[in-house]
Amino acid sequence: MGTATAQRSRLESVQALGLASFQRGALTVYFSRDRESRAEGVATLLADVATFYGVARGQGADTNVAVLDESDWEATFDLPYGLSAYRGDGAIVFLPADLEAGAIFRVLVDGLEASAPEVSSQVRAECGSLRGGARELADLVAVHELGHAYQRRHFGIGPPSQWFNELVAWYVAYEYLAARAPESLRKVVIVNRALAKSMRPTTPSLDEFERSVPTGREYARFQALFVARCHDVHRARGARFLGELAREFPRVATRDQERLENAEILRRLERLSLGFEEWARRVGDLPGGE
Ligand SMILES: [Zn+2]
Repeated sequence: MGTATAQRSRLESVQALGLASFQRGALTVYFSRDRESRAEGVATLLADVATFYGVARGQGADTNVAVLDESDWEATFDLPYGLSAYRGDGAIVFLPADLEAGAIFRVLVDGLEASAPEVSSQVRAECGSLRGGARELADLVAVHELGHAYQRRHFGIGPPSQWFNELVAWYVAYEYLAARAPESLRKVVIVNRALAKSMRPTTPSLDEFERSVPTGREYARFQALFVARCHDVHRARGARFLGELAREFPRVATRDQERLENAEILRRLERLSLGFEEWARRVGDLPGGE
């Protein structure tokens, strides 16, 4: 059984649970028992992202989405419950049916509770409460995951590193939210700003991030830095940036051939949009510029 399970794709493992599913455009959504309304909400959001980017069914970017309760998640996925992720193996996005029981939500709440009063009060003002802010961001992580799903297959970008992959998934989400849900985007930016200012860095550089991708709060801090970078780049490049990335970092046959050293990645990014090299030098700085 162990061998058979290992050879199954993630999608096949989910399908083997015998869950209900439905089709929504280029998305196939599987959901745990009694979680149809949550799955509908996720599908409505993600189908709008697909429409926004012109992703149609059968054009090479079809994506599966699994909205799972804790027991279905544990049976099919290797990450802690609620640590949403995309896996190319089966082209599937894993999302928690119970957002507030999930790892991302809890890390965000912890981070926001530790943030300085001047930034946490802003989150409370915008989102009602710190938990409300955490929920807003954790919910929209689904759009970021679809960004991963579309990065190579739809946009034709071959991510040359892991941090670049994360940054671009946020850019896909940012561009969508800026056009379709600016209110939500404003909250996401404020919550991430609070997180970036509340967490003391333990990973000093992008090179170190690449050697050993951090977990927990440090991972959340990096995600916040990526959102902040998207915020600045979007003001300068807007919707053009994704096409520019595809020209500068084209998808090729294998991921190994796409990989580049950070210095080269940053040199090319700097050419597209000013400020990347300076931003990269500061990812290990203490919050608040201490
Ligand atoms: Zn990601």
